[in-house]
Amino acid sequence: MTKQTLSFQAEVAQLLHLVTHSLYSNKEIFLRELISNASDACDKLRFEAINDSGLYESDSELKVKVTFDKDAKTLTITDNGIGMSTQEAIDHLGTIAKSGTKDFVSKLSGDQKADSQLIGQFGVGFYSGFIVADKITVESRHAGMKPEEGVRWISGGAGNFEVEAITRPERGTSVILHLNDDAQDYLSAWKIKSIISKYSDHISLPILMEKEEWKDGELIDPKDEKGGRQPGSMVKTGEWETVNKANAIWARAKKDITQEQYDEFYKQISHDFEAPLAHTHNRVEGSTEYTQLLYIPGKAPFDLYNREKSAGVKLYVKRVFIMDDAEALLPTYLRFVKGVVDSADLPLNVSRELLQESRDVKAIREGCTKRVLGMLEDLAKHDKLPETAASADGAAAAEVTDVLTAEEKAEAEKNAGKYTKFYTEFGAVLKEGLGEDFANKDRIAKLLRFASSTTDTVSVSLADYKARMKEGQEAIYYITADTLAAAKNSPQLEVFKKKGIEVLLMTDRVDEWALSFLHDFDGTPLQSVAKGAVDLGKLQDEAEKKAAEEAAEAFKPLLAKIKEALKDKAEDVRVTTRLVDSPACLVVQDQGMSTQLARMLKQAGQTAPQVKPILEVNAHHPLVKKLDGSPNFFDLVHILFDQALLAEGGLPDDPAAYVKRVNTLLV
Ligand code: ADP
Repeated sequence: MTKQTLSFQAEVAQLLHLVTHSLYSNKEIFLRELISNASDACDKLRFEAINDSGLYESDSELKVKVTFDKDAKTLTITDNGIGMSTQEAIDHLGTIAKSGTKDFVSKLSGDQKADSQLIGQFGVGFYSGFIVADKITVESRHAGMKPEEGVRWISGGAGNFEVEAITRPERGTSVILHLNDDAQDYLSAWKIKSIISKYSDHISLPILMEKEEWKDGELIDPKDEKGGRQPGSMVKTGEWETVNKANAIWARAKKDITQEQYDEFYKQISHDFEAPLAHTHNRVEGSTEYTQLLYIPGKAPFDLYNREKSAGVKLYVKRVFIMDDAEALLPTYLRFVKGVVDSADLPLNVSRELLQESRDVKAIREGCTKRVLGMLEDLAKHDKLPETAASADGAAAAEVTDVLTAEEKAEAEKNAGKYTKFYTEFGAVLKEGLGEDFANKDRIAKLLRFASSTTDTVSVSLADYKARMKEGQEAIYYITADTLAAAKNSPQLEVFKKKGIEVLLMTDRVDEWALSFLHDFDGTPLQSVAKGAVDLGKLQDEAEKKAAEEAAEAFKPLLAKIKEALKDKAEDVRVTTRLVDSPACLVVQDQGMSTQLARMLKQAGQTAPQVKPILEVNAHHPLVKKLDGSPNFFDLVHILFDQALLAEGGLPDDPAAYVKRVNTLLV
């Protein structure tokens, strides 16, 4: 094969542009990314060699070497991992294969600042080399192939790259960075070592660098031993030394690991620039032995709502990397968790299919789920500063802060607000757990937070709500809507507002579905204010009940007429006590799907069952009173129905007909 010039896929070119233009403040991560690729390549080889030891080609000591050449101004990262064939180099280094990454690139706005924030959540991988290099040469040979089947890949990072065949006796890959003028300080062993210890200590392979020694400069006058010398310099000795701890962080004792090291490891595996909110690190012994190191991120990835998207937990078996994104290790609703599980019991050649069935994995999954929920409970407990928490009951406030030592106070301040942050990012995903994880439903329910008719921020727990319930109130009331404003101003809330009853406002898409799994909380039923008849039970006095019954009776003939006029649209028509200011609203049967959910399903292109709502009218409203005997009865009734639909964020089936009717009346 001769030299071939090929173009990057459009998305790669875009990504490259972004990487080189927005990661200036964080240049050094390129080394982390390239070492991580080298380490992945070694992991892959080790994994494939389980079934084909010939791939080791009598060189089974996997390692990464970092070298630099001051004269040529190059920095080279070499591994003896799986390597790449020519086609693989073209495919892997010239295109973006992962659909998630492609999606990500398509989301870029072109606004440098916003984009560089985004990129923090995402691994820039190989292309990060172009932050410091104006040209990259990759030489590689795939394990098991002939020396003549090597490949050289060269690119200046601008639209194209070249590939040509080379002979490369040694298996694996060298990435040669031709450093640009701003990156010459990476030609220093000290600098490289310090970056490696910051980012790559936990890489379980040895990372080797050539030892250097100080050598005095030549004598200026060769005959004068005591005379002056040329400047001295560090020279390579030909000996290699391991510069990382080569020690998986999760395998070390907790007491030997600093918070910074935990955070760094998180950043490395998550590609997040920010520290995580919390971590848990445990060695679990018993019938199944494993180590877990799990993190709660502070920021949601761009594709969080893609349930197909894999989990963030890596599986190792006795320190050998087995797979990324092992979804069997945690339920889907905890897919935001990042971390590592290292099992002592699973076989090395475990497959995804096998994982699904393994009893050990089941135990690990349960254990990890418990730990994550525990972490969240802990964050929730410390979300508020003790003084604010206590000031609810006034008197205790002063005392609580008084008894805190300075240290405790600092600790409290550090933890305050973390749960709120978590919930803002991941609350909607956590709710999926109500439908997914029945065993932990109660624990999940306690972790939920909502806005309410009396609290604008998403901060009300079901326990808070219960504690504030009115004397005689028998249910936890909630409403689901598309937006907070729609929920807050919904006609269905009117009677609750009038009576000063708090209603939880739910605006996440998942709410309706998730809440259908939560019938009660701590013995108190949950009741949607948009479903079934209003039964305020003891909250309504006798006079009110009587008035309602009388109104219903008196309205019977009118209701029959309305029902007839709306027979294609409404399941039923009845008088309600739910409304105060509005003439009408729509509700559904107790067990029915809400009109909001039906609408959402329809928008998502799914078939929703035909929901025929019930029209409820306010007997005291002038418009309703006017209906009987009106010459415009038919139009008015349809307007009433369509307006009720509009008020909850829906659209009339025939908007034009609605407009025409209203206009006729206006004229
Ligand atoms: P990622 O590592 O997230 O998949 P990269 O852009 O870093 O993305 O790398 C793209 C692909 O190139 C990798 O998935 C891998 O197949 C290949 N690759 C990169 N570096 C190496 C290497 N040192 N050895 C073998 N393959 C590599």
